[in-house]
Order: sequence, then C-alpha cells, then structure tokens
Amino acid sequence: MSKRQTTSAGAPVPTNETSRTAGPRGPLLLEDYQLIEKLAHQNRERIPERAVHAKGWGLQGTLTVTHDITKYTRAALFSKVGNTCDVLSRWSTVAGELGAADAERDVRGFSLKFYTEEGNWDMVGNNTPIFFVRDAYKFPDFIRTQKRHPKTNMRSPEAMFDFWAGQPESVHQVTILMSDRGIPKNPAHMHGYGSHTFSMWNDAGERHWVKFHFRCQQPIENYTNEEAKKIIGETRESFQEDLWNMVSEGKYPKWKLFIQVMKEGEEDKFPFNPFDLTKVWPHADYPLIEVGELEMHTIPENYFQMVENAAYSPSNVVPGIGFSPDKMLQARIFSYADAHRYRLGTHYEALPANAPKAPVAHYHKDGAMRFFRNDTGNFNAYYEPNQYEDAPRPDPSVMEPPMRIDAEAYRHPQEVTDDDFVQPRALYKEVLSDEGRTRLHQNMAGAMAPCSDSVKERWYAVLERVHPDYAKGVRDAAESAPALPVTPDTPIKAAE
Ligand code: NDP
Repeated sequence: MSKRQTTSAGAPVPTNETSRTAGPRGPLLLEDYQLIEKLAHQNRERIPERAVHAKGWGLQGTLTVTHDITKYTRAALFSKVGNTCDVLSRWSTVAGELGAADAERDVRGFSLKFYTEEGNWDMVGNNTPIFFVRDAYKFPDFIRTQKRHPKTNMRSPEAMFDFWAGQPESVHQVTILMSDRGIPKNPAHMHGYGSHTFSMWNDAGERHWVKFHFRCQQPIENYTNEEAKKIIGETRESFQEDLWNMVSEGKYPKWKLFIQVMKEGEEDKFPFNPFDLTKVWPHADYPLIEVGELEMHTIPENYFQMVENAAYSPSNVVPGIGFSPDKMLQARIFSYADAHRYRLGTHYEALPANAPKAPVAHYHKDGAMRFFRNDTGNFNAYYEPNQYEDAPRPDPSVMEPPMRIDAEAYRHPQEVTDDDFVQPRALYKEVLSDEGRTRLHQNMAGAMAPCSDSVKERWYAVLERVHPDYAKGVRDAAESAPALPVTPDTPIKAAE
C-alpha cells in the first residue's frame, strides 16, 4: 500500500484535486485549510537568491590526505596521511542570476566545505588565483557593475570597463576573464584557488602563510565565445548536465590539493605585498607542495537542500588553519556569514548542507528555525561559565599563536604602481600562446564594443601599462570588430 499523503502537521488529506466549495460551481470555502496550506507553501518556496554567485552546481565527495604537512599545520584533517574527509562543493558564476546560462564568460566560484573532525573548514575560492580589487571598499561597487543597470535593467559593459579603468589593478583578473579560461567547459575542467593568503599553524605555534591550489586532474577545457553561444542556444544548463552525466557514468572529477608556503616574517622581504589579492605568488619562488586528492563522486539527493542551502564562509576555519592580514579576506570573514544569516536565517549552520559532522556544543540560543535541541546536552547549562561538569567549555589548547600585524591603524593607501602590471605582463607575454593572445584581444574588444570612446581610451591606457602590444592588439581587434546592434547603454527613451 502506498504511503498516506498528509498535511505538514501530519493529518491525512482526503483529496489533492478537489477544493471544498459551497456548490459545484464554487465559490471556495475559507475552511479548506489544506488548499490554503498548499498555496501558502508555494508562495514560500523561494529564498532570496545570492546577490553574487546565484547560479551554482554542487557535488559531494571526499578529500584524501596523501602527503604529510604536519610541520605546517596541526589541523586534525591533515594529522595523518590517509585521513579522509567528506566534502560538499558548490561551483558558480558570479554575475548571473539563478536562471542564468551556465556557459557564460565569468569568473567561477569554487567553494568547498570540509566536514572535519574539528568542525567545518570552508574554502570559498574561485577558478582564478586573484581578484579584481584588493580593498573591500571597492567590492560592492565592483559587483554593482556586474549586475543590471538600474534603468535599462540590462548588463552594462560601459559600467564594467569604466570601473576597471578606474581600478587599473583589476587588469590582471580582467586578462584572465577575457582569456580562454574565461568560459570553462564545466567545473570539472578548471582549477580552483583559495585565492587569498591564509595561514597555517603547527603544534609548536609556528605560523606559515599559505595559498591553496586545487589542480584539476581532468584536462583544462574551455569554450570560445562562438562555442559558448552555440551551447547556450541549445541548453542553459550545460554545467549541470555535464556534471550529472559524468557522475552518473562513474567518471568522478578529481583535483589535487597543493599549498604554497611562506614562513611568517618572510613577507617583509617579499618584493610586493603578499596579502594583496590582485597578485599571485610565483610558482618558481613558492613551489606547489602536494597535500591530497579531492574526488567528487555523489550527486546530492536534493539540490535545494544541499546546494541552494549550502552556506560557505571564509570565517569557517579550524584549529591549525587561520587568516592573514589580506583586507579582502578580512571583509569576507564578516560579509559571507552575514549574507547567510540574512538569506537563510540565524541558524543556517544547522541546515543539513552546513551541519558539521563534528559535535556541536555552543550557547547560542533561540530564534527563527530553532528546530534542534538544547545542544549543550544539559538543560541547566544555558549560560557560561556555569557549575556543571558536563557543560561545554572553551579549550585553550586550540588558541591560535599571535599574528604579527602593522602597528599603525590608518587608511594605508595602496596606490597603483608599476608593480601592479608585472604579473599581468608575465601572463600576457610568457604564459599565453600567440593564439591565446589573439583570442584575448578579440574577446576583450568584443566585450567593450558597446562602450563609449572615452571609456575605451581609458582602458587602452591601462593595457598600455601592461604591454604596448596588449593595447595595440585590443585596439586593432576593436577597430575591426562589428558593432553590436543593441547595447545595454543605449538610452531607452521614455514613452512619449
Ligand atoms: P607559471 O609560469 O609557473 O605557470 C603559469 C600558470 O598560469 C599555470 O598555473 C597555468 O595553468 C596558468 N595559466 C595558463 N593560462 C592561463 C590563463 N589564461 N588564465 C589563468 N591562468 C592561466 O606561473 P608563475 O607562477 O610564474 O606566474 C606567471 C603568471 O601566471 C602570473 O603572473 C599569473 O598571471 C599566472 N598564474 C600564476 C599562478 C600562480 O599561482 N603562480 C596561478 C595561475 C596563473 P596550467 O598549469 O593549467 O597551464
């Protein structure tokens, strides 16, 4: 016999087809609370979409530690070669809304939640090792330029390039975005980076600055603009479809986890600020150290529950892993957890996607969705300190060693200098192939085609500082590119 359908209060429902009415032709009776409940639930099926990274794809998997890094970290996860840990991934585009097409040119979010035995560690990274800006003041404005124009309600290349031209340090990330890697084929064919500088500390209380790299074990594959246009014409869900097919066929995507390591104190000898999110640490100076292997092998049973509700925050670190002075990281420590409290609610960490597999024992109390029990395990212990021996207590043995910081609290300006163009120049001249450079010129010229001449000129001046060939290549491509018929910045006349 099939299961009985019930109301959300568990009472069996007699019908799911016929409303309760005064006569065969209606009207409805207000007492049909089962219908009201059904309609009310439908009205509440959505939660606010993420302001950034709204469109996402996720899998569950496992990290296996393959190399010993205990000299850098006391994290329980890395305490022994062979340790494993459950992981929830969420990859995403940055700008597009929930229904946006997957194969758009954009940076991809690359978030991983490690359910370690000492709590959840979140790596909330991207498929690029750097970012557009290095000071959190600029982040909301940057994101605004990626979203819709307040009047046209269309994306605005004018706003994007105007902002980038005003923030020349963004040219490093814009170069990656407009290069071949700006449209990955799907998440299984791209690297992941923690991007920020984090830290690790060991049992002896020694700190090292650390960058995290997840190197894709599938070939790097990307779409050209033309290929992406065709794909999007056929399906808007190409990433979800690819991941579904791959995992269903047992072809589980894998990444190798590496770290780059810098001893605390060495940052003073570094030729530039190693906590600047617009810069990488060159591989030759800071070689990749292998740590483990990530295999994503399971499609979550319920997308909304495990992927839409997944709440990643760089504030989720575990003993042995810590932060750095990186200003963008510091701001994200506040802003990501705050976004989840707003979007999902006070107790978002108790949702199945976010609930730690480690024991939870805190003194935070009630509020909306307090659906779990008094988790100190002793109902008298609802404050701290208290007299109860079985009550949770802080553990001073996990106290992080002190972090050296600059001593002057001040708005230290970080002006754009020639240093900001060294790495984009290396990428442009030394890493990209001739064909890659040509496509970069064309992609950028196409993206800025709708922009005003003054914005274009300001952007060419930025490219010139990277390399004269770069400015010339994009200018030449722009001059030969066909103009787009409708631009998001075409003023829309009010109806007369
Ligand atoms: P290396 O010469 O040792 O390696 C170049 C790196 O660039 C590789 O990781 C390569 O990935 C990656 N790469 C290749 N094409 C692109 C692209 N279109 N967009 C983004 N990354 C790409 O690098 P260095 O450490 O000496 O740095 C040189 C420049 O390479 C940097 O200024 C930076 O722009 C870029 N880069 C550096 C990284 C780092 O962490 N050091 C990471 C990524 C990029 P793959 O191995 O898959 O080819």
